[in-house]
Parts: sequence; C-alpha cells; structure tokens
Amino acid sequence: MAKKNTNDKMDRLVSLCKRRGYIFQSSELYGGLNSCWDYGPLGSELKRNIKTSWWDAMTNRRDDVEGLDSAILMHPDVWKTSGHVDEFTDPLIDCKTCKSRFKADDLEGREKCPVCGNATLTEARQFNLMFKTFMGPVEDDSATVYLRPETAQGIYVNFLNVKNASRQKIPFGIAQIGKAFRNEITPGNFIFRTREFEQMEMQYFVHPSEDEKWLEYWREQRWSWYLGLGIRKEKLRWHEHAQKDLAHYAKTAYDIEYEFPFGWKELEGVHNRTDFDLSRHQEVTGKDLKYFDERFTEKFIPYIIETSAGCDRTLLTVLIDAYEEDPTRGDKSTVLRLSPKVAPIKAAVFPLVKKNGMPEIAEKIYHDLKKRFKVFYDDGGSVGRRYARMDEAGTPFCITVDGQTKEDDTVTIRDRDSMEQTRHKISELGDFLWERVG
Ligand code: ATP
Repeated sequence: MAKKNTNDKMDRLVSLCKRRGYIFQSSELYGGLNSCWDYGPLGSELKRNIKTSWWDAMTNRRDDVEGLDSAILMHPDVWKTSGHVDEFTDPLIDCKTCKSRFKADDLEGREKCPVCGNATLTEARQFNLMFKTFMGPVEDDSATVYLRPETAQGIYVNFLNVKNASRQKIPFGIAQIGKAFRNEITPGNFIFRTREFEQMEMQYFVHPSEDEKWLEYWREQRWSWYLGLGIRKEKLRWHEHAQKDLAHYAKTAYDIEYEFPFGWKELEGVHNRTDFDLSRHQEVTGKDLKYFDERFTEKFIPYIIETSAGCDRTLLTVLIDAYEEDPTRGDKSTVLRLSPKVAPIKAAVFPLVKKNGMPEIAEKIYHDLKKRFKVFYDDGGSVGRRYARMDEAGTPFCITVDGQTKEDDTVTIRDRDSMEQTRHKISELGDFLWERVG
C-alpha cells in the first residue's frame, strides 16, 4: 500500500468519523461553525464511556474523592481573583493584508506573513481568551459574566461546602467533568483544540509538606488510566515544565503527551498549584479557607495537586490510536481497534441468513443482551460486509447465529482484532461480554 502522509491520516479519520456517526461539523447545514463539533450516535456513546471510566477511576472506586457539578456561569469576581481577567491572554498578531491571525508564539520572530508572504504583520497585542456574555436584560459592564475557561475554579470556591458536607479529611479531592470555553486564536486539528470543550478535572487538597508525594502518586494514577483505555504506551510520554515556563500559580508541572500525527501534544496536566488558589479566594472574600489538621495540629491553607484532562482530546487520542488501515481485510480495510471498555457498541448480533429461524434466535439474543450492553442488530448484506461495517465502527465482537445454532444452542463470536471465530453457548454470551467490557 502506498505510504500516505500524516495529514491524510487525520483527514481519513475525520471522514470516518462523519461516515460512521462519530463526529459531525457543528451547524453543517449552515456551512459549519469553525472549530465547533457535534458528537453523533457513536461519538456521544464513546464520549460517555470515557467520562464514565474517568469518573469511576477518580471518584466511585475511591473513598477520598468527591464529585461536583458546578455552574458554568460564576460570579465575575472569581475570574478576577483567579488571575484570568488579567492574565488569561495569548499574544496575537494580525496580518493587515490577508487578515490572518496568529499566536505570536507560532511566528517566532518572523517578519513576513506565512500565509500571504507580505511584511504587514502588526505588533503583538494581548488577547483575552475568555468568552463574555451578559446576565439579565441590560448589556452593560456591570452585567458581564464569563463562560468558564476551566472547571477548576468551581471546585475551589466549593472547597468548604464539599469538605463540610462530606466530612472528608485532608488529603482528599474533588472531581468534576464539565464544559469549558476558550476563545482560542488558532483552534484546529479537528477536536484537538476547540473553543468549546469538556474538561475532566480533579483537585486534591494536601498538607504542604506532602505535596511532592501526592504529585508523584497522581502522576502514576493518571498515566495508568490512559493505558487502561488501551492507548499504546510508546505513544505516551511525560513532559516536565521548565521553571521559567511555569504558570504563575505552579510549583511543579508535568504534562502527559501523546504523539499525534501532527506531533507530540499535551493530553493532560498534573500540576502542583500550591496554596495559590485558596489563598487568593481567602484574601479577596475574607472567608477563612484554612484547614485544621489533627495530624499536624496546625491550621493551614491546603496545597492543591491538580489533574486536568480534556475529554475531547482524550477521545481524539483514543480514536487516532485505534485507527488502522489493514489491507488484509479487503476493500473496506479500516478498523478501529478501540478497547472494548470504551467502544460505543460492545457487540453486533447477526443472523447468517434471513431464513430458517435464524433471525428469530438472533433477535432474542439481541434483546437479552440489550438489557446489559450497548449492542446492535444487523441483518443487511453479506456477513463479510457486516463485519467490515463493525470493524470501522470499532465494535469488538460480532455474534452470528448460523445453521448449527438450532442444533446445539451455540453461536460464533468473531473477534475484531484477530478476526478469529470461536463457538460459544448462547447462555454464556452475557458473561463473555461482561468479562471483556465491564
Ligand atoms: P494547551 O497548551 O494545549 O493550550 P493548556 O495548557 O492551556 O493547553 P490546560 O489549561 O492545562 O491546557 O487545560 C487542561 C486540559 O484541557 C488540556 O490538557 C487539554 O486536554 C484540555 N484543553 C485545554 N484547552 C483546550 C481546547 N482549546 N480544546 C480542547 N481541549 C482543551
């Protein structure tokens, strides 16, 4: 097969996503809205599975992390206190000729516009990435509110509420999943960088003397979570921020990066944010956010270890990592080797042919499995074509009712990755799937 370049691979993934109902351009009927995407039937299911996996790992399977779902709109002063109003900016450069816009960092001192070649670039000016809107009927400055650019602040301002309601003792964490908005200057690479996206963030409150220990602990946890999603280890790496590049609030910062077709890029940040956030909120509101720790018999403002992941970015990673063109499979050679744990459809059920009582048995299997798993019934076209459709959709197992089924209550299960078929009792199908997708 001819070697195709990496951008082609992204293009082909984008077209597969549209064809199979993973991801569509937002407002496509109206010509689309730049950098906004809609998740279709399979995409919304995949996204939900990723979020459930994160939520289970970060809260349900632990005793020391509580969940939260805070509002997108917050008191505007929160964003002044956090530093976002003054500092959440990117330096922006315009080209006066072709009107292209660039992040200053991307031009690295170039004098000519990389799009039109003219030396008509403006000076860099600071551009705030927060979206603004107005609350209530009057559109003036006093009514300005922001669409949150991160979910973390919703956690900090609820630190006391959650601590008191849950009676947690430090160290403990608060996790939440939710939308965030950033008016990015250069969105792109499909869903990698968008203006509306979802974050999965957890803030872990610790005694200042134990910050490094917990940072290491969470680095390990987060790394394992990506491996558990089936992402190839050799495509992941750690990047430690140099001291000079640290955000104003951070003491140490690590990112988990993935090697996308467009280069190594950040997937998630695991950062030691010190006591910056709670100290600032305490200072501005006058509310006591200190914690009395019986172990240390002292009052202090907790340090925060943050794990901040992008849900859409994780989804893109899962898709690109699973995408494979396998010419041995014939014409329809694309297969999405998604982990059964996150695959949108866990199994497809087919009657080999639409006669001899096979559809009735297949339908019964389908309805039984449907009570526990997301399964799909398909009786259209040859079995080979049905397998190919499921390979492209990332469905790990295909169950086929054939001539032998009536005789001994067995069916074949075809494994997406090995393409091997094995025979199983119908009564064992539920356990078979549960062991692999549960
Ligand atoms: P980047 O350097 O890529 O802009 P960041 O360092 O600003 O990211 P954080 O503020 O640490 O990102 O956000 C945490 C996570 O949220 C990121 O690791 C990423 O997965 C996700 N994220 C941030 N911005 C976007 C975006 N514009 N689109 C999609 N996901 C995003």
